[in-house]
Amino acid sequence: PDTVRLLSSSQVITSVVNVLKELLENSLDAGASSIDVKLDNYGLDRIEVRDNGLGIKAADTPVMAVRHFTSKICSHDDLERLQTYGFRGEALGSVCAVAEVSVTTKTAEDDISIQYVLNFMGQIVSQKPSHLGQGTTVSVLKLFKNLPVRRQYYSTNKKCKEELKKVQDLLVAYAIIKPELRLTLVHNKVVVWQKAKVADLRSALHATLGPSAVANLLPCHYHQEQPEIFLDGYFPKPEADVSSTSSSHPDKTFIFVNNRPVHHKDIMKLLRQHYTAQYSEDQAQNRYPTLVLKVTVPPSSIDVNLTPDKTQVLLQNKEAVLTAVEALLVSLYGYQCD
Ligand code: ADP
Ligand code: MG
Repeated sequence: PDTVRLLSSSQVITSVVNVLKELLENSLDAGASSIDVKLDNYGLDRIEVRDNGLGIKAADTPVMAVRHFTSKICSHDDLERLQTYGFRGEALGSVCAVAEVSVTTKTAEDDISIQYVLNFMGQIVSQKPSHLGQGTTVSVLKLFKNLPVRRQYYSTNKKCKEELKKVQDLLVAYAIIKPELRLTLVHNKVVVWQKAKVADLRSALHATLGPSAVANLLPCHYHQEQPEIFLDGYFPKPEADVSSTSSSHPDKTFIFVNNRPVHHKDIMKLLRQHYTAQYSEDQAQNRYPTLVLKVTVPPSSIDVNLTPDKTQVLLQNKEAVLTAVEALLVSLYGYQCD
């Protein structure tokens, strides 16, 4: 059973950035407005996420890391109107199988915070009072200590640096989609990135991408009924020099579906196609425009269960969404590009 648990957990928990994504989403689901992320040795020695959210009720702590426990879904109907990032109750339990985990938490009703140390099975093995304020701190030590091959993956400096870049890209995505969120990243005790609470999407872009990137962007909206699709975003201004603001990695093309940062191959392809004509020939191969696209559809029309890390979503009305994105591009630039 230990081997089975280890194997299935290692499918849910695949990397440092993937652990971090699960912990961040739990903090956001708990209504946090401030999140501090600390990594030691690129997250291999320690990943810690501290939030000021609702905390975990004492009654829930014994089961919080039990596989398939979730406080978020009670029925199939809930799944159809899902507003939270998490719903499978799989993450925390899975992390316990591949690292040393402790959770310190305090709700508004609790007098003091309690630190719980969890074992391989996600059960509490010890607990003691702690001094933290309201919210939850999850600490993940020695990730993949029992999966030498997975750990080996990070044996080169290059891989570690790439992982840290992915972590930062992920934080930037959440910083954009949650302007009111205060977010910091500390690596080996050094603040490597931070973003203050701001009022709106534009200010969030300012804080994350910088003033010169924002100067080239234009807010845009598109609404379609039946099927209902809302598009909101910031796209390159018609007069902007797209080739100079584009990037050779998709790390500045932000696509969100119902507030989840996602990789959507078809939407990305459509967007890139549209701007290709504006890149010089030797650039066209691997250029990605700097832009933000938020797609909002009824929760019942997307399936985020496609991959364990929920970065890929299945859109029920994919064609309709693509057509809407095209219509948005046409309305912005006034011509059809294909
Ligand atoms: P899910 O997010 O799918 O519900 P998880 O395994 O990620 O499952 O978390 C299990 C449960 O632990 C959550 O449903 C929630 O009740 C609790 N929990 C985990 N992290 C936090 C947090 N940062 N703040 C409040 N509750 C949390
Ligand atoms: Mg979760």
